[in-house]
Amino acid sequence: MTFEPLIPQIAERTHEALALAKADPSDGAVMHFQWCNAAFSAMTGFALEDIHGCRAITLVGPDMDQGEHLWIIEKLMNWESFSIELCNNTKTGQTQWQRMSWTYLQHPDTSAPWWLCSLRDISREKTAELMEEAQKRVPVVAEKIGLRTHNAVEAMDHAFAVFNTDAQLIHANSCFRHLFDEFGCDALQSKPLAALLSEAVSAAMFAKSESADHPGWVEERVKRLQAGAVPYDLTLSDNRILRALQSQAPNGDRTLLFIDVTRERGEERALLATTRTLHNSTKELEEKYSELEEAKKIVEKVSLTDPLTGLSNRRHMSEVLKSRTSRLHEENKPFAALFIDMDRFKLINDTLGHDAGDELIKHVGQVLRDAAKPEDFVARVGGDEFAILTDLTENAVDVSELADGILEGLKQPITFKGSTISSSVSIGVAIAKAGMTDPDQILANADVALYRAKHLGRNRWSFFTQQMHEEALSAKRTSKDLLKACKDDQFKVYYQPQVDVLTGALVGLEALVRWQHPSRGILTPFHFLDIADSLGVVKDIDQMVFRHVAQDIKDFEDLGLKIPKISVNVSGRRLRDPALVHDIRRSGVDPSIMCVEILESIYLDDVDEMICWTIDQLREMGIMIAIDDFGTGHASIQGLLKLEPHWLKIDQQFIRPIVEDDAKASLAHSIVQIGHGLGIGVVAEGVETMKHADAAAGLGCDVLQGYAFARPMDRSATIDYIRRAQVIPPYQVKAPITQAKA
Ligand code: C2E
Ligand code: MG
Ligand code: MG
Repeated sequence: MTFEPLIPQIAERTHEALALAKADPSDGAVMHFQWCNAAFSAMTGFALEDIHGCRAITLVGPDMDQGEHLWIIEKLMNWESFSIELCNNTKTGQTQWQRMSWTYLQHPDTSAPWWLCSLRDISREKTAELMEEAQKRVPVVAEKIGLRTHNAVEAMDHAFAVFNTDAQLIHANSCFRHLFDEFGCDALQSKPLAALLSEAVSAAMFAKSESADHPGWVEERVKRLQAGAVPYDLTLSDNRILRALQSQAPNGDRTLLFIDVTRERGEERALLATTRTLHNSTKELEEKYSELEEAKKIVEKVSLTDPLTGLSNRRHMSEVLKSRTSRLHEENKPFAALFIDMDRFKLINDTLGHDAGDELIKHVGQVLRDAAKPEDFVARVGGDEFAILTDLTENAVDVSELADGILEGLKQPITFKGSTISSSVSIGVAIAKAGMTDPDQILANADVALYRAKHLGRNRWSFFTQQMHEEALSAKRTSKDLLKACKDDQFKVYYQPQVDVLTGALVGLEALVRWQHPSRGILTPFHFLDIADSLGVVKDIDQMVFRHVAQDIKDFEDLGLKIPKISVNVSGRRLRDPALVHDIRRSGVDPSIMCVEILESIYLDDVDEMICWTIDQLREMGIMIAIDDFGTGHASIQGLLKLEPHWLKIDQQFIRPIVEDDAKASLAHSIVQIGHGLGIGVVAEGVETMKHADAAAGLGCDVLQGYAFARPMDRSATIDYIRRAQVIPPYQVKAPITQAKA
């Protein structure tokens, strides 16, 4: 039995990786793989087809040392078998330590040179070997590292020390040594930390705040080091602050590192102080702010409150009105604005004094507050003006009840310093409903309604209506036109004759102003006098009237027409104007034929020194005084005596009904008797028909004026009238008034 047939099995079953490469007979280094066994494929990952025809370099890794490579080539070229440990590459690119052996073979038949390559995986042995080698090199490396670390530790700016498990000093860097040295303490090797610290405490190295001299302090620090406790701060007696950081090395050694944090702590403290100051100042500021807020609230409240009545003031009212108006659109919550004005307040103020006036205003404020619902807004918006804003429910009944309540509440007079003072108000009511956006318009509407209430005789209320709106609009337009009229003198004078009751002869003319409006034609005072009054231009109109009258009379005289008496109307307000006398004097009208008609209704019981002075001046000039519209006001006999007028003109409303109304006729008769009793002549005005003329004559009137004789006429018509009329001198006062007084 021969063993040769087993050889192929050996090749296939051995764990040795084997491969055969055919060499070039001229160069042993030139070869090509022709065969490999299974172990070869298993170890290198290369199958036969992978390496067939390839050169040996296929097996070598990229990291092969150049010297080793040349050594191998040299061996192969010389047909020398060899073995070498190499870090080769597998097919997948992984490195693998292998013992690679090349054995020279010669083919038995042809003598051709062949190489047998065998590989063995030596990774495990190689790693162990490397590790061992590395282990051998550790002390050297460690020594190298130790020296470097030592140098680095020495160069540190911070005090650093290493202690063993017994807290004995093993190593301290120079900074550490220097630190203790500053206080005369030696940081000597193998000195226990406890001893070092005790020495330092004795040398007063630590600040008093550290309480280092307290029993147990040193032990506590040693314990901290051993426990590797959390970092802590240490304050030195020279105020330096050191941060102590401890750690434990794997061998149990403790390290202690002192970092100087004086600057950081100082900054922190400063920051803290600043923060605290800031906090305090913020707190202070907050307090001041809330004080200010409080003060502001008070100021605001004060600035929104009327000091006399304690009600809201105009400013507050404007704000509330504005906000309620803006809510109209969103919430459709209609409300009413009541504009309330005290009647004849000025008179009370002037006659009874401001204290009484103030008392009365307070009283009115209180009455308004009482009459209004608690949720209503009540304000004093001017000297004697008030306003109420009240939400509307279903209808306006609430509002009329409120207005009635106010008028009712004021019926009760008040007593002030022994005097009884009565007062009343006029109220204008406007409704603000969705669609209205202008708060001023709402107030303006209420104001228009108030004006109407005043006009209707005061002590009443009036609702704003569309008609009023139109009237107000027209008044606005008229105002504009009127100012222009004053500038351009668009006025002329009409004259109405006054006739003697017995003879029908002309005894005088009353001058009545007319406005020649550029588009509306001739306008009577009814259309513009009130507006002129509110615009303050009555004075200008009067002046123009005086001028025209003077001119017209001159023209009449130039025509040979003598006028026995010319009456001019003077608005009551002008009697307080010292310029009136001057204006009349300057007009050039002969004072001896002039008569000034003044309105009874306002001024007769309110005759102050200024009015007396004016009237005295007029009288001295020889001008006659007539009380116009007598019977409509509240003139007392005392008032009449004070004024000493020459004429009383009975108002038309007493004359017009005398024909059919006996009561009115007897009233007119009484006026005649009063007049005559005081020696005052009596004129009946508004004598519309001859029947009226007869009746007036029957009542004893001296002079008649009215449509029965002539309507007010322009200049030329007047001239015609005078030409045709019998003219007699003005009526003479039968009994001087001074006699009557006596
Ligand atoms: P007055 O002084 O009482 O003037 C009489 C008014 O009665 C005039 O109205 C006159 O046209 C009107 N009248 C005269 N007879 C009759 C009559 O039989 N029946 C009717 N229904 N009315 C008659 P006029 O001109 O419209 O003047 C109204 C008022 O305007 C005057 O009332 C006077 O108070 C004022 N006024 C007129 N002219 C002036 C003026 O130049 N200055 C001032 N401040 N007021 C004036
Ligand atoms: Mg008159
Ligand atoms: Mg009159």
